[in-house]
Order: sequence, then C-alpha cells, then structure tokens
Amino acid sequence: MPKLRFSCPECESRIATEVVSAPLWKCPYCAADVPNPTASEDANSLSRCRVCGNAEMYVQKAFPNWLGMGVVILAGIGFLVFHWMYWFYAAWACLFGAAILDTLLYFLMGNVTLCYRCGAEHYGFAVNPGHGNFDLGVAEKYRQERLRKRLLGGDSASSVRSSQSR
Ligand SMILES: [Zn+2]
Ligand SMILES: [Zn+2]
Repeated sequence: MPKLRFSCPECESRIATEVVSAPLWKCPYCAADVPNPTASEDANSLSRCRVCGNAEMYVQKAFPNWLGMGVVILAGIGFLVFHWMYWFYAAWACLFGAAILDTLLYFLMGNVTLCYRCGAEHYGFAVNPGHGNFDLGVAEKYRQERLRKRLLGGDSASSVRSSQSR
C-alpha cells in the first residue's frame, strides 16, 4: 500500500496520507490545498515527486535511526550487565543477537524514496531504477536552493548582504 509523508508548503506541518493519487490534498492543520502534480500517473509507479513534481529523488531503507540505535544501546547494556554477572556467554549472545537483529530488520524493512527538494517520503512504491542512493552533491544543490529562496522570500535584504560579505 503506497503511502506518502510530506511537509505542508504553507505551514510546514508533517502530513501523512495513503491517498497518493488524489488530485490535491488538504492540509489538516492550516487547510491549505496542496496540488498533486502527478495525479494522472500510475498510482504504483514513481517517476517524480508526488508533491513537488521534482524528478531528482533518492532511495534508502525505511529503517528509522532510533530503532537501529535502540537495538545497539540495549545490546550494550545487556552486555555490561551479563559481563558484570560473569555470564560471559549471555553477554556475547547479546552482541551477536543485536547484530543479527539489525541485519534482519534491515532486510525486512521496505524502501522509501525521498525527494531531494521537498523531503517528501514515498513508501510502498515500486523502486524506480532511475533513483539511486543518497548523493551529498545533489542534496547540497537543493540545500543551497532552499537557502536562496528563504533569503529572497523574507524581507531580509540585510541578511543577504551580511551573508555575502562573509
Ligand atoms: Zn498546512
Ligand atoms: Zn518533492
């Protein structure tokens, strides 16, 4: 089941929806209309971002960082506790168990395709071979673009000047 998570362009609240082919979404927080530029495209294929229409996207495992870190921290605590109790086999079993669990989780988790420009997360779509792994160079290009937009968007002419003189 494809799923979408993206930020409202108006109020920047995080919106989650399973209606990935709606012609537009309504932000539940500020009631802004968010048009879907790909509404007419096949619901399961992903050629470009469903929210901003940008073609440059990257794929990563839908493996939340806190989960991986949680497993590692618990294993570390278990290791120390069992070690302290002189249960050395149990202590090492903790570490190996955590490594196996992390590997299993990694393979069980699906992929998520993220948009470089707006950060929208696309879950459950067939992965498009045109979308590669995260590329820092491309991400930097979009970060600069966002920065420029923010500077030009506000009434912050002075901050533009000060950042240029730096
Ligand atoms: Zn909103
Ligand atoms: Zn996007």
